[in-house]
Amino acid sequence: MGDTSDNKIIILTAPSGAGKTTIKTRLLSDMAQRLSFSVSATTRKIRTGEEDGVDYIFISADDFNARIDSNQFVEWQMVYPGMYYGTTVDEVKRIWHEGKTPLLDIDVKGALNVKKMFGEQVMTIFIEPPSIDVLKERLMRRGTESDENINTRISKATEEMEYRNSFDSVVLNDDLDRATAETRNIIEKFIGDLGKEVKS
Ligand code: 5GP
Repeated sequence: MGDTSDNKIIILTAPSGAGKTTIKTRLLSDMAQRLSFSVSATTRKIRTGEEDGVDYIFISADDFNARIDSNQFVEWQMVYPGMYYGTTVDEVKRIWHEGKTPLLDIDVKGALNVKKMFGEQVMTIFIEPPSIDVLKERLMRRGTESDENINTRISKATEEMEYRNSFDSVVLNDDLDRATAETRNIIEKFIGDLGKEVKS
Protein backbone atom coordinates (compact mmCIF):
# COMPACT_ATOMS: atom_id res chain seq x y z
CA MET A 1 0.00 0.00 0.00
CA GLY A 2 3.09 2.18 -0.33
CA ASP A 3 3.01 3.68 3.13
CA THR A 4 5.71 4.58 5.62
CA SER A 5 6.66 2.45 8.60
CA ASP A 6 5.09 4.92 11.02
CA ASN A 7 1.68 3.89 9.75
CA LYS A 8 0.57 1.46 12.42
CA ILE A 9 -2.34 -0.94 12.69
CA ILE A 10 -3.91 -2.32 15.86
CA ILE A 11 -5.87 -5.54 15.57
CA LEU A 12 -8.27 -6.86 18.16
CA THR A 13 -9.19 -10.44 17.58
CA ALA A 14 -11.06 -13.00 19.68
CA PRO A 15 -13.53 -15.81 19.56
CA SER A 16 -17.09 -14.47 19.20
CA GLY A 17 -18.48 -13.59 22.62
CA ALA A 18 -15.11 -12.96 24.29
CA GLY A 19 -16.14 -9.39 25.08
CA LYS A 20 -14.04 -7.90 22.33
CA THR A 21 -16.76 -5.53 21.11
CA THR A 22 -17.19 -3.94 24.54
CA ILE A 23 -13.44 -3.47 24.92
CA LYS A 24 -13.26 -2.02 21.41
CA THR A 25 -16.08 0.46 22.08
CA ARG A 26 -14.45 1.66 25.29
CA LEU A 27 -11.03 2.07 23.67
CA LEU A 28 -12.45 3.98 20.72
CA SER A 29 -14.15 6.42 23.05
CA ASP A 30 -11.20 6.74 25.48
CA MET A 31 -8.60 7.08 22.73
CA ALA A 32 -10.65 8.93 20.10
CA GLN A 33 -7.78 11.30 19.32
CA ARG A 34 -5.45 8.50 18.32
CA LEU A 35 -7.52 5.51 17.23
CA SER A 36 -10.24 5.13 14.65
CA PHE A 37 -12.36 2.07 13.92
CA SER A 38 -11.78 0.51 10.52
CA VAL A 39 -15.27 -0.24 9.21
CA SER A 40 -15.26 -3.55 7.32
CA ALA A 41 -17.49 -4.61 4.46
CA THR A 42 -19.66 -7.69 5.00
CA THR A 43 -22.28 -9.78 3.24
CA ARG A 44 -24.01 -10.79 6.47
CA LYS A 45 -27.43 -9.35 7.25
CA ILE A 46 -27.65 -6.19 9.29
CA ARG A 47 -28.73 -6.77 12.91
CA THR A 48 -31.19 -4.66 14.86
CA GLY A 49 -29.31 -1.74 16.35
CA GLU A 50 -26.58 -1.76 13.71
CA GLU A 51 -26.02 1.07 11.27
CA ASP A 52 -24.84 0.72 7.69
CA GLY A 53 -21.51 2.50 7.24
CA VAL A 54 -20.89 2.65 10.99
CA ASP A 55 -20.75 -0.97 12.17
CA TYR A 56 -20.10 -2.39 8.74
CA ILE A 57 -20.68 -1.53 5.13
CA PHE A 58 -23.40 -4.07 4.33
CA ILE A 59 -23.10 -5.24 0.74
CA SER A 60 -24.28 -8.07 -1.51
CA ALA A 61 -22.18 -11.12 -2.38
CA ASP A 62 -21.88 -9.80 -5.97
CA ASP A 63 -20.59 -6.47 -4.77
CA PHE A 64 -18.16 -8.23 -2.42
CA ASN A 65 -16.81 -10.36 -5.27
CA ALA A 66 -16.39 -7.33 -7.50
CA ARG A 67 -14.39 -5.65 -4.73
CA ILE A 68 -12.16 -8.72 -4.39
CA ASP A 69 -11.53 -8.62 -8.14
CA SER A 70 -10.61 -4.95 -8.06
CA ASN A 71 -8.20 -5.42 -5.10
CA GLN A 72 -10.18 -3.24 -2.74
CA PHE A 73 -9.46 -5.41 0.30
CA VAL A 74 -6.38 -5.50 2.51
CA GLU A 75 -7.68 -8.93 3.57
CA TRP A 76 -10.97 -10.77 3.49
CA GLN A 77 -12.34 -14.02 4.89
CA MET A 78 -15.43 -16.16 4.79
CA VAL A 79 -15.69 -15.99 8.58
CA TYR A 80 -18.86 -18.08 8.79
CA PRO A 81 -20.37 -20.29 6.08
CA GLY A 82 -21.52 -18.00 3.27
CA MET A 83 -20.69 -14.82 5.22
CA TYR A 84 -17.84 -12.69 3.94
CA TYR A 85 -16.01 -9.94 5.79
CA GLY A 86 -13.19 -7.72 4.51
CA THR A 87 -10.96 -4.84 5.58
CA THR A 88 -10.91 -2.22 2.86
CA VAL A 89 -7.80 -0.44 1.60
CA ASP A 90 -9.74 2.85 1.50
CA GLU A 91 -10.67 2.67 5.15
CA VAL A 92 -7.14 1.96 6.41
CA LYS A 93 -5.69 4.74 4.22
CA ARG A 94 -8.39 7.21 5.25
CA ILE A 95 -7.51 6.70 8.91
CA TRP A 96 -3.77 6.96 8.31
CA HIS A 97 -4.34 10.18 6.41
CA GLU A 98 -6.23 11.54 9.43
CA GLY A 99 -3.03 10.95 11.40
CA LYS A 100 -4.66 8.20 13.47
CA THR A 101 -4.13 4.47 13.91
CA PRO A 102 -6.76 2.12 12.51
CA LEU A 103 -8.28 -0.34 14.98
CA LEU A 104 -9.33 -3.51 13.18
CA ASP A 105 -11.80 -5.93 14.73
CA ILE A 106 -11.26 -9.00 12.57
CA ASP A 107 -11.12 -12.77 12.87
CA VAL A 108 -8.05 -14.79 13.78
CA LYS A 109 -7.09 -15.70 10.22
CA GLY A 110 -7.51 -12.16 8.95
CA ALA A 111 -5.41 -10.90 11.86
CA LEU A 112 -2.58 -13.31 11.08
CA ASN A 113 -2.69 -12.35 7.40
CA VAL A 114 -2.44 -8.63 8.13
CA LYS A 115 0.43 -9.33 10.55
CA LYS A 116 2.21 -11.27 7.82
CA MET A 117 1.75 -8.38 5.38
CA PHE A 118 2.71 -5.46 7.64
CA GLY A 119 4.96 -7.12 10.25
CA GLU A 120 6.27 -4.71 12.89
CA GLN A 121 3.73 -2.08 11.88
CA VAL A 122 1.01 -4.27 13.37
CA MET A 123 0.10 -5.10 16.96
CA THR A 124 -2.18 -8.12 17.17
CA ILE A 125 -4.10 -8.47 20.44
CA PHE A 126 -6.04 -11.64 21.21
CA ILE A 127 -8.86 -11.24 23.73
CA GLU A 128 -9.25 -14.53 25.52
CA PRO A 129 -12.54 -15.53 27.16
CA PRO A 130 -12.25 -17.22 30.58
CA SER A 131 -13.69 -20.45 29.09
CA ILE A 132 -15.80 -21.85 26.26
CA ASP A 133 -18.69 -22.29 28.74
CA VAL A 134 -18.61 -18.58 29.63
CA LEU A 135 -18.50 -17.79 25.94
CA LYS A 136 -21.59 -19.88 25.23
CA GLU A 137 -23.43 -18.25 28.12
CA ARG A 138 -22.53 -14.76 26.82
CA LEU A 139 -23.68 -15.57 23.30
CA MET A 140 -26.98 -16.94 24.59
CA ARG A 141 -27.51 -13.93 26.83
CA ARG A 142 -26.77 -11.55 23.95
CA GLY A 143 -29.71 -13.09 22.11
CA THR A 144 -28.65 -11.97 18.63
CA GLU A 145 -28.04 -15.44 17.21
CA SER A 146 -30.13 -18.54 16.53
CA ASP A 147 -29.19 -21.83 18.28
CA GLU A 148 -27.62 -23.01 15.07
CA ASN A 149 -25.52 -19.86 14.77
CA ILE A 150 -24.45 -20.15 18.39
CA ASN A 151 -23.21 -23.68 17.76
CA THR A 152 -21.33 -22.53 14.65
CA ARG A 153 -19.75 -19.72 16.64
CA ILE A 154 -18.79 -22.01 19.53
CA SER A 155 -17.10 -24.51 17.27
CA LYS A 156 -15.25 -21.69 15.52
CA ALA A 157 -14.26 -20.24 18.91
CA THR A 158 -12.86 -23.59 20.04
CA GLU A 159 -10.79 -23.70 16.87
CA GLU A 160 -9.66 -20.07 17.28
CA MET A 161 -8.46 -20.63 20.86
CA GLU A 162 -5.77 -22.90 19.43
CA TYR A 163 -4.16 -19.92 17.74
CA ARG A 164 -3.78 -17.87 20.92
CA ASN A 165 0.01 -18.18 20.95
CA SER A 166 0.35 -16.69 17.47
CA PHE A 167 -0.45 -13.13 18.57
CA ASP A 168 1.73 -10.29 19.85
CA SER A 169 -0.34 -10.04 23.06
CA VAL A 170 -3.03 -12.07 24.81
CA VAL A 171 -5.46 -10.37 27.20
CA LEU A 172 -7.63 -12.55 29.42
CA ASN A 173 -11.10 -11.03 29.70
CA ASP A 174 -11.94 -12.23 33.21
CA ASP A 175 -12.91 -8.71 34.21
CA LEU A 176 -13.94 -6.08 31.67
CA ASP A 177 -12.36 -3.05 33.39
CA ARG A 178 -9.08 -4.82 33.98
CA ALA A 179 -8.97 -6.27 30.45
CA THR A 180 -9.76 -2.87 28.90
CA ALA A 181 -7.02 -1.17 30.93
CA GLU A 182 -4.51 -3.86 29.97
CA THR A 183 -5.41 -3.55 26.28
CA ARG A 184 -5.10 0.22 26.46
CA ASN A 185 -1.62 -0.07 28.01
CA ILE A 186 -0.51 -2.39 25.24
CA ILE A 187 -1.77 0.02 22.58
CA GLU A 188 -0.27 3.12 24.20
CA LYS A 189 3.07 1.42 24.56
CA PHE A 190 3.01 0.33 20.93
CA ILE A 191 2.08 3.73 19.53
CA GLY A 192 4.33 5.54 22.03
CA ASP A 193 7.35 3.36 21.34
CA LEU A 194 7.02 4.19 17.71
CA GLY A 195 7.05 7.92 18.47
CA LYS A 196 10.38 7.49 20.25
CA GLU A 197 11.85 5.49 17.40
CA VAL A 198 10.89 8.11 14.83
CA LYS A 199 12.40 10.96 16.87
CA SER A 200 15.74 9.26 17.65
P1 5GP B 1 -20.07 -10.39 13.58
O1 5GP B 1 -20.86 -11.11 12.54
O2 5GP B 1 -20.37 -10.90 14.97
O3 5GP B 1 -20.18 -8.89 13.47
O4 5GP B 1 -18.53 -10.66 13.31
C1 5GP B 1 -18.09 -11.95 13.13
C2 5GP B 1 -16.59 -12.00 13.10
O5 5GP B 1 -16.10 -11.41 11.88
C3 5GP B 1 -15.88 -11.27 14.23
O6 5GP B 1 -14.92 -12.17 14.78
C4 5GP B 1 -15.19 -10.15 13.55
O7 5GP B 1 -13.98 -9.84 14.22
C5 5GP B 1 -14.94 -10.70 12.19
N1 5GP B 1 -14.73 -9.65 11.18
C6 5GP B 1 -15.37 -8.47 11.09
N2 5GP B 1 -14.89 -7.75 10.06
C7 5GP B 1 -13.89 -8.50 9.50
C8 5GP B 1 -13.01 -8.27 8.41
O8 5GP B 1 -13.00 -7.25 7.74
N3 5GP B 1 -12.14 -9.28 8.13
C9 5GP B 1 -12.08 -10.43 8.85
N4 5GP B 1 -11.16 -11.33 8.49
N5 5GP B 1 -12.91 -10.67 9.88
C10 5GP B 1 -13.80 -9.71 10.20
